[in-house]
Amino acid sequence: SNQQSAPPSATGAELIAATLKHQGVKVIFGIVGIPVIEVAEACIAVGIRFLAFRNEQSAAYAASAYGYLSGQPGVCLTVGGPGVIHALAGIANAQVNCWPMVLLAGSSDTDQVDMGAFQELDQVEACKPYCKYSARPASIDKIPATVEKAMRTALYGRPGATYVDLPADFIQYKIRDRQFVDKYAKSVPVLPASAPKSLADPQSVAEAIGLLSQAKSPLIVVGKGAAYARAENEIRQLIEKTQIPFLPTPMAKGLISDTHPLCVSAARSKALKEADVVLLLGARLNWILHYGQSPRWSGDVKFIHVDVLPEEAGNNGANTLPLVGDIQAVTSQLLNQPLPRVPATNAYVSGLLGKVKQNVAKSLASRKKGSDTAVMNYQSAYTVIKDILPADDIVFVSEGANTMDIARSFFDVHKPRHRLDAGTFATMGVGMGYAIAAQEYYPSKRVISIVGDSAFGFSAMELETAVRSKLPLIILVINNNGIYHGLDNEEFEQSRRDGTLPSTALLPDTRYDLLAEAFGGRGWLAKDRVQLASALKEALTVKDNACVINVMIAPGGRTKLEFGWMKKSDDKAKL
Ligand code: ADP
Ligand code: MG
Repeated sequence: SNQQSAPPSATGAELIAATLKHQGVKVIFGIVGIPVIEVAEACIAVGIRFLAFRNEQSAAYAASAYGYLSGQPGVCLTVGGPGVIHALAGIANAQVNCWPMVLLAGSSDTDQVDMGAFQELDQVEACKPYCKYSARPASIDKIPATVEKAMRTALYGRPGATYVDLPADFIQYKIRDRQFVDKYAKSVPVLPASAPKSLADPQSVAEAIGLLSQAKSPLIVVGKGAAYARAENEIRQLIEKTQIPFLPTPMAKGLISDTHPLCVSAARSKALKEADVVLLLGARLNWILHYGQSPRWSGDVKFIHVDVLPEEAGNNGANTLPLVGDIQAVTSQLLNQPLPRVPATNAYVSGLLGKVKQNVAKSLASRKKGSDTAVMNYQSAYTVIKDILPADDIVFVSEGANTMDIARSFFDVHKPRHRLDAGTFATMGVGMGYAIAAQEYYPSKRVISIVGDSAFGFSAMELETAVRSKLPLIILVINNNGIYHGLDNEEFEQSRRDGTLPSTALLPDTRYDLLAEAFGGRGWLAKDRVQLASALKEALTVKDNACVINVMIAPGGRTKLEFGWMKKSDDKAKL
């Protein structure tokens, strides 16, 4: 017969995959199930890598960290209902951290809405409070436009999370002619390499220069927004031209090396207290910076606040000159002006640098104490780790309370975007997702996770993900048998006699190292410095398998910080 055969057909899943490919997506973090298996398979078929997790929380955390590291929205794919509820943890975390990520999730068939369908949930509404944009495409052919808008909205302005709902009947829809797939996928613009960059009002730039010129004790504070903006070269020039000391927030460590002569991290309290004019680059005046308020800051400190979001300026009553714009662009604007230079004789700067020297010497002196076979504490364990790790190209991931706080000041970071931690939301459980994302983004670098035993427990099952994906993570579980100060054997026996355990306790001597081996990974138990050193040296030779070193430290070692993060101002207590 001369009857023409029908053209080959395609599916909605293939349209979704072609759309993501067109938008430049290289990797997706997620978990499949009905109805998104076809989506993942179609993505893999067009050359997108799919990293399959064990819990959507970790997958979403990984996507958000990948968004931060790569400067493009990280993409997460989950099933609907419970899958989205689990992933909400990740989108809320991304939103609070100002990191770009897109969650794509399957949902029930559109003709079964409100009927008690399989995993039915109004996901667009559920995600909305934690997202910049949350939508379901109006029809199959609108999938590319909705995905593009979600990617663009995640990236532009203040970065954050977005959500796209993918009903099962859209995914399974039979597209009659497969040439429509490419046609529709490519009918929308491609996401640009970065968001459009705006400049600050030139008048405000001139005022900022005036303020910096008159300052007696200026300070530059760099935040993870500056790291995200990839503004390291401009900021380094600004610091070196002006000779203004600087302080990174926890995730901005390494934007400019921690060992730069003008880095005053080791004199943080003094710097905050004494600064009169602060150039704030990509950091909010939230709990991490003590709300910009006295007594941690001087009562009449003036902030020059560079941020992409205008509403951020003046938060919490801070006396602020806003410079609204992209940090890289605005820093270049400042560099184009005649800049003041702090003289070497400035008493405030020499006071800070003196304090840095003194504090560094003090902590060095406190390091090597006790015999090699003594029970370890944070400092002695970290000293061993620091001595063995290569000086460069380490990507640090850290979570936990004391484990993270002490590691933050202990380990120097030399490169931008080489340290991830619990962040603005202080989220525990991010460690495995972040480490996997970091290794995916930096395939040739060593990712070292330094995590508390409690923090590790939130996402330990992702060890299987790491082993299966052949990611050579090195996870150092700093094990004190519990949350905060942990639990020693005597306390444990006592609690057993009483029949109760404190809420902070975990089972003593849990073998997290064996957990790694159960998955085919590598595990070591390290009870003293000698064992820790040999385990870490061996782990560093492993190139295609995940490693866990269970680092036993003495419980009960309460660390006293001069000021707790959460400490309220004394003024307020008087009200
Ligand atoms: P940290 O936790 O390091 O103090 P925050 O997350 O509080 O940092 O602050 C980061 C800030 O950076 C946010 O207010 C965000 O709006 C801002 N930001 C992100 N990207 C840019 C950019 N490209 N230009 C200017 N500001 C940015
Ligand atoms: Mg602990």
